[in-house]
Amino acid sequence: MQTCNVHLIRFKTTDPDNKVKSRLKKLFHKAGFDKIIGKNDLTALKVHFGEKGNNTFLPPAYIEPIVRIVKSFGAKPFVTDTNVLYKSARDNAVDHITLAHEHGFSLKTIGAPIIISDGIAGRNEIEIRIDAPINKSVSLAVDLVTANSLIVISHVTGHINIGLAATIKNMGMGMASRKGKLTQHSVSKPMINQNKCTACGICAEWCPENAINVGDNFATIDETICIGCGECIAVCRFSAVKFKWDNSSTELQKQIAEHALGIIKQKKGKIGYFTFLIKMTQDCDCFGVKSKPIIDDIGVLAGKDPVAIDQAVLDLTIINNKNISELSYPNIDANTQLIYGEKIGLGSRSYKLIDEKI
Ligand code: SF4
Ligand code: SF4
Repeated sequence: MQTCNVHLIRFKTTDPDNKVKSRLKKLFHKAGFDKIIGKNDLTALKVHFGEKGNNTFLPPAYIEPIVRIVKSFGAKPFVTDTNVLYKSARDNAVDHITLAHEHGFSLKTIGAPIIISDGIAGRNEIEIRIDAPINKSVSLAVDLVTANSLIVISHVTGHINIGLAATIKNMGMGMASRKGKLTQHSVSKPMINQNKCTACGICAEWCPENAINVGDNFATIDETICIGCGECIAVCRFSAVKFKWDNSSTELQKQIAEHALGIIKQKKGKIGYFTFLIKMTQDCDCFGVKSKPIIDDIGVLAGKDPVAIDQAVLDLTIINNKNISELSYPNIDANTQLIYGEKIGLGSRSYKLIDEKI
């Protein structure tokens, strides 16, 4: 088993921003990210802007120095995320970018444009072949695939479905298109809520399989024809198309790992990872509520292996024999995403922690 270096700088959110910024720059070089970014690269910085009402998302102050370093190599960074499946201020690019601005992310504050990588309605996707045990190919956001290099900037929290939201989740779920997310979450097909449907017929126009029949009062989906692409969810402006979140935690974690593998295979080494262990809450940044951290700030990890970094996250967050996942959702085994990730070639759980005094 290959042992990967995982670099750590320790800091707290109460530390002066300027001090953290200069240390992040040094960490960038220590982790070897200077070898990843090329002149004129379109470089994606994958972040999470936080759901409306959330107060513990990763703030722009820690994104801006990374943008600046990427620019210093002559690259062209953009800060990005993808649209979510459920009803949210992040379910289309217009609202998503507006929310990002409300949360302090703008060209002025972070020094790079914000681009939602799967387009205005989450339809801009591309299939990447992975030949993994569950999926032969996965559907990912076009602009993340098109980018020449990628810095994945993740925030560690617990997670209601998979125990741990960190690097693997930020990639596998956060870089998938709407179809990819639907594949991960559901083993059944979408359904139309007859009470909300206005029979406008827009979903039927976009359905690639002609699986939607529009009646006088509402539309219905023929499950025998539907391929679960999620187009109908994307185009319905009345929130009438629903799907059941019916995949088990184990299956969901495996799906997330396989979608993350799609990006790894496509980028061929042009990826670096920063994973912040600060403001660590029980639930992820998709929760639109104000929460209190359940673990004290630790700092930030950097490395080139997402599995190694997430293993370090689980080990560093242990309090009284329980890591962040066990503290948040004791009935979920978050090790699945790491063990399965290692099995399919996403990375290695064996790592060497380097506690940087920079
Ligand atoms: S787009 Fe929505 S409201 Fe219109 S027919 Fe389809 S499900 Fe009904
Ligand atoms: S998920 Fe895709 S194939 Fe199925 S009904 Fe919706 S648009 Fe049609």
